[in-house]
Amino acid sequence: MPEREVRAAIAEVIKYGVIWDAELFTQLEAAHQLDQFAALDNALLQEILTRSCQAKAHVVSKDEKEAGLRAILNYGHTIGHAVESLTGYQLVNHGEAVAIGMVAAGQIAVDLYHWDVESAQRQFALIEKAGLPTQLPIGLDIEAILVALQTDKKVKSGQVRFVLPTQIGVATVTAQVSADTIRQVLQQMQAN
Ligand SMILES: [Zn+2]
Repeated sequence: MPEREVRAAIAEVIKYGVIWDAELFTQLEAAHQLDQFAALDNALLQEILTRSCQAKAHVVSKDEKEAGLRAILNYGHTIGHAVESLTGYQLVNHGEAVAIGMVAAGQIAVDLYHWDVESAQRQFALIEKAGLPTQLPIGLDIEAILVALQTDKKVKSGQVRFVLPTQIGVATVTAQVSADTIRQVLQQMQAN
């Protein structure tokens, strides 16, 4: 697997850590390196794969308590999909777009007092450590992102639904994010 694809896969693993599995998150933090396949410890790699499969199995299970959890798998994908489509699915790959989306959603969660600053910083550091982007691609128009969010099929009654973390390992779905909040966060994420 090329290194860039490995990093993209790790974006989804970080996602599981943030929304579902605090222990996995801590293990990723403890890893010596995350940005190179060859540098990944075999035991950690095994652990990552096992836990990711477990998380997916839990989320797609028919258990009533877990049924609603399927929605949180979309964490980082709301803005991520917009970034992907606006860059023609070429400039950034899926995992990179999800990384950008997680940084944005994390900051939105902080701004709305859903999430503490320290947890958001830990997520940011992990994404950087994995060699994934934390800023918007240069030249990407923020208003175009906002328009793309509105045309996303997950929009219900004009409000974009966001998956937001409330602590490491726990996330919630909300439609209470204003366009102004999204705009402000995206402005902070513009590359200088
Ligand atoms: Zn994905």
